[in-house]
Amino acid sequence: MRNPLQLYRTKRNFRRTPEPRGRRPRPSARPVFVIQKHAATTLHYDFRLEVGGVLKSWVVPKGPPSGAKTKRLAMATEDHPLEYAAFEGVIPQGEYGAGPMMIWDRGPYRNLMEKDGEPVPIDQALEDGHLVVGLEGKKLTGAYILRRMGGDPRKWLLMKRPPSSRASHSENRRKR
Ligand code: MN
Repeated sequence: MRNPLQLYRTKRNFRRTPEPRGRRPRPSARPVFVIQKHAATTLHYDFRLEVGGVLKSWVVPKGPPSGAKTKRLAMATEDHPLEYAAFEGVIPQGEYGAGPMMIWDRGPYRNLMEKDGEPVPIDQALEDGHLVVGLEGKKLTGAYILRRMGGDPRKWLLMKRPPSSRASHSENRRKR
């Protein structure tokens, strides 16, 4: 099986960057999300979700949406190692993604995706291009939607699910 971290490692020189090389991907009991503020050539936010032992990653140029009416472009990028969820530091000039990176928010998350009242496994939801995740961060809490757009498969939208939506009522009742 191809190592999901191969592209991540190919892009980086670990003798120069303080970023973690990462160990073998291994799923944990309590999957996490992290949002990093990254002052690279262009300031952006990196949104990462633990799936299958790696951090699935999106570049969100404008940062997470503040309200349910805002849709934010999220460009899928290479998988990062789980250790990256704890990374803060300065990526040196000349290296990939040069510039300071800080953790903006992080915490556990729950997969809330359902189809016809049945839970959809997170890797299936990812493949379908439609995720609903319940974030339990310090800044972000509640249900967020990631939806792949047509055309360029890297293009997704990140949205906050309106609190009044029917799905959120059933989700609040459900205990897992
Ligand atoms: Mn970045």
